[in-house]
Amino acid sequence: MRKESGKFGIGDKRGRCETSSDPYVQAEGLPEPTLCPGCQAVYRHKRWYLDAQAYEALARDAKVARQLCPACRKIKDGYAEGYVTLGGSYLWAHEAEIRNILRNEEAKAMAKNPLERIIRMDREGDELVIETTEEKLAEHLGRALNKAHQGDLKVVWTDDHAICRVSWQREK
Ligand SMILES: [Zn+2]
Repeated sequence: MRKESGKFGIGDKRGRCETSSDPYVQAEGLPEPTLCPGCQAVYRHKRWYLDAQAYEALARDAKVARQLCPACRKIKDGYAEGYVTLGGSYLWAHEAEIRNILRNEEAKAMAKNPLERIIRMDREGDELVIETTEEKLAEHLGRALNKAHQGDLKVVWTDDHAICRVSWQREK
């Protein structure tokens, strides 16, 4: 699979910024610093990051701006850019382990970029459905799972690269 350019301010081949397609990212930016009361991320130098000490220190100042970060707003609204659908009897025989892998990968992704989060992870019939705030996290979860438990992985992007749909199956 071909890799697209990075998320942060690097234009893609159509000459636009990838993040501009994300309605939850404000083009005009935010005051700096801004605190997210949902996940305690801090916005500074034009990006959100997690730093518990910085958050605590800034939160003592009532004048510091507060606003939910894009990921917390997406979770609140149930707005997903990534969809992962898992299936097959192997999945249910290893459900706890697989859920752990997905949560661990989310934690690692979030440490690098707090906007990459799992919105929900629910069993729907014979499938485990995961929705993510960022399309790249869906691809990442699928690849990490497939690396640990080889199955049948498919990664499909919409033409504008705004939505990623991942499916993974394993029967035995
Ligand atoms: Zn947040």
